[in-house]
Amino acid sequence: MKCALVRPDGTTVHTERHPTDAGRGPDAVVETILDVAEGLAGKARADGRDPVALGIAVPGVVDEATGVAVWSANVGFRDVPLRDLAAQRLGLPTVLGHDVRVGGLAEARLGAGRGTGHVLFVAIGTGIAAAHVVDGAAAGGAHGAAGEIGHVLVRPGGPRCGCGRDGCLEAVASASAIARRYAEATGAGPTGTAGDGGPTGTPASAADVADRAAAGEPAAARVWAEAVEALADGLATGQALYDVETVVVGGGLAQAGPRLFDPLRAALHERMTFHRRPRLVAAALGDEAGCLGAALLALDAR
Ligand SMILES: [Zn+2]
Repeated sequence: MKCALVRPDGTTVHTERHPTDAGRGPDAVVETILDVAEGLAGKARADGRDPVALGIAVPGVVDEATGVAVWSANVGFRDVPLRDLAAQRLGLPTVLGHDVRVGGLAEARLGAGRGTGHVLFVAIGTGIAAAHVVDGAAAGGAHGAAGEIGHVLVRPGGPRCGCGRDGCLEAVASASAIARRYAEATGAGPTGTAGDGGPTGTPASAADVADRAAAGEPAAARVWAEAVEALADGLATGQALYDVETVVVGGGLAQAGPRLFDPLRAALHERMTFHRRPRLVAAALGDEAGCLGAALLALDAR
């Protein structure tokens, strides 16, 4: 859990990190969230500050209107009324947001999309998800599940996605898919001890694949190129739908820098026919984007 005290102008004055320890079960995770939030409010008061609102963001399906964490696989949440629980405990106006949507909100308002009204934020890590931000606000969809660009079908009959369908974008181009596809291509087992060729014997990460592709290794180059092409297809669909000025790419894969952005920009622009070419840039706020965005959402709702 990344936590912060944020001033109304978006400046962070204090940050904390705490383990989620999801293995303890959802109730314990909720208790920890409430304890940590209470501790932060106490810290603010002890420093002579006046906490005015609380923002919480979680992954999965989030109903922002009702403040319910509908479904979060990695923390085991199922219909948890997190907003009301926190508001009760802290006595502060509270909002509940979705991790990628609030991350997009922060990037659009304070980060790489700053100064542009229409932004598509795409986070590429173990999965791929997006937020469409217009004039500083991201819509969550009718059921709290907007922005699932990772499940756009880009390769019919392609690799099996975690959602159960074959050929979704994230089954080809997420950081974990890139690592998995490279391991398959090189005959390395899932534990990566055999055939991997890496210096440490650990499985090659997506970043390693980018490095090896740049060094001219054929299997890495092929897996990387296929991921870039699939991402370009997904982003082109996003641009056809949303016509944004700026596409901000964040998450672990964005760390690959020009090895990702140069070929991806070229492939995306190749796919634009009458559509305007969006600016394609790397996220600027790192892994604090979600935290900042939760604060912005809370300040908006005050
Ligand atoms: Zn899928």
